[in-house]
Amino acid sequence: MTDNFASFSLDLAENWAAGTLADWDSSTGSVANMGLAKEWYRRCLRDHPQCHKSPTPLPTRLIDLGEMGGGSEPVLYETPPGMTGEYVILSHCWGGGQPLEPIGPLIDRRWPLPPLSKWLRTFQDAVYIAKRFNIRYVWIDSPCILQRNEQDWITESGRMSAYFSNAAFTIAAMGAEDGTQGCFWPRNPVLTRPCCVKLHSGCKTDSRPELFFIAARPRYDSDPFTNDAPLHSRVWVLQEELLSRRILRFGKRQMYWDCLTLAASESDPEEGWKSQMTDTRRILHSSPIVERAGQHRNPYYDKWYELVNKLSERNITFNRDILPAISAIAESIHRLMDPGDKYLAGLWEKDLVVGLLWVVPRGECLRPKVPEGQPNYDRRDFFAPSWSWISMSDREPSVWLRSKIMPGEKLNLYNPRYESWGTQILSANVELRDDVNIYGEVKSGALRFRAQICPVRIERKLSPRHDLRGNCETFSSSELT
Ligand SMILES: [Zn+2]
Repeated sequence: MTDNFASFSLDLAENWAAGTLADWDSSTGSVANMGLAKEWYRRCLRDHPQCHKSPTPLPTRLIDLGEMGGGSEPVLYETPPGMTGEYVILSHCWGGGQPLEPIGPLIDRRWPLPPLSKWLRTFQDAVYIAKRFNIRYVWIDSPCILQRNEQDWITESGRMSAYFSNAAFTIAAMGAEDGTQGCFWPRNPVLTRPCCVKLHSGCKTDSRPELFFIAARPRYDSDPFTNDAPLHSRVWVLQEELLSRRILRFGKRQMYWDCLTLAASESDPEEGWKSQMTDTRRILHSSPIVERAGQHRNPYYDKWYELVNKLSERNITFNRDILPAISAIAESIHRLMDPGDKYLAGLWEKDLVVGLLWVVPRGECLRPKVPEGQPNYDRRDFFAPSWSWISMSDREPSVWLRSKIMPGEKLNLYNPRYESWGTQILSANVELRDDVNIYGEVKSGALRFRAQICPVRIERKLSPRHDLRGNCETFSSSELT
């Protein structure tokens, strides 16, 4: 245990002994917690080379808190090109309400903002955390993306990958359903902090008593994702989480740290839980692999499909948001693939034969018909071509590959025989709404391919007790049009 953790533990012991723990540590935003969070950050900077990234360029705009201790009101700051530095970034559930916007003109690279006391609670808490860390700059989507400027939204949402990846750490307001609830929650520290007791170690009762920590760790407290965490259900948030190198999470019961090397919590500050996403985050922050000789297919395609399955379980408010909401993840994983590959509204051109093998398990496959002869069909509510899983992203599609397609035989996509299936993509294109962001919204899409076809018989099993030969509804291929 490091000296600072030892010091933290001694503070804990003293407050336990004095009966003042509840006053000292009654909220997830307590002074004690800020000290613990700073220790996690210090430890990460000092001991975790994998978590480092430098230099870190600053986003286009940031909230500038001014000189530390200066007492000035925050302003929106247009950063000079090429400026590097340290900033924190907020991941939160918006939940409606008035966006935070400049209240005056841009002067000397600075826009005035409303007084801090008028901001949403979650924004105020993010500022409080940044100040405790002596970090001058904070990125919050509103106001750092100009809400009334559609072009700015397209441009800046395309840079989210870099913004979350470059931040010192992400503040995740996990427990809040909207911006009014804030990052911090009252809670009983006695249920979170380890209880300190003095015990004689070994069998000799005349030995000097030692200090032991006994933690009451209910199962729900060991993993923040099994807590009540509204923030965790949104697609946007998954993207923010995956692209962050360090995340300081504020749940309703306790605070958690999650960098690329350490996942810890208040109840176990040394290492407490295994993040579901850590492995994926490590991949997204890794260097591109050199393809092995004879390797038939880049393994990151499968990582992408795993992500698709996770993404499709999340909530998205507007269908049009789905491509922007995953654009930063797509950009990050594209970095690890063949740079000559093309992103096609959620799929990859060089792996399209596999990528097209997606299904909607609920069987709701009705979709608007594209008029004959209109390959560039652009409906008002069009948001993805029908051949991409994105078009059914509100119905939880899955990319099904190995076990379902070839029952009884594992599909080996690394086997050169895969090419002998005979399917050939003749052309695949999407028309972007904005040429600058190749991972963003699309206006239309067209796909032409050549493949072998054969008549099939599809049987529907009526119940799990009936076997396929005896009790099936049977359709001929002519009925299935
Ligand atoms: Zn770290």
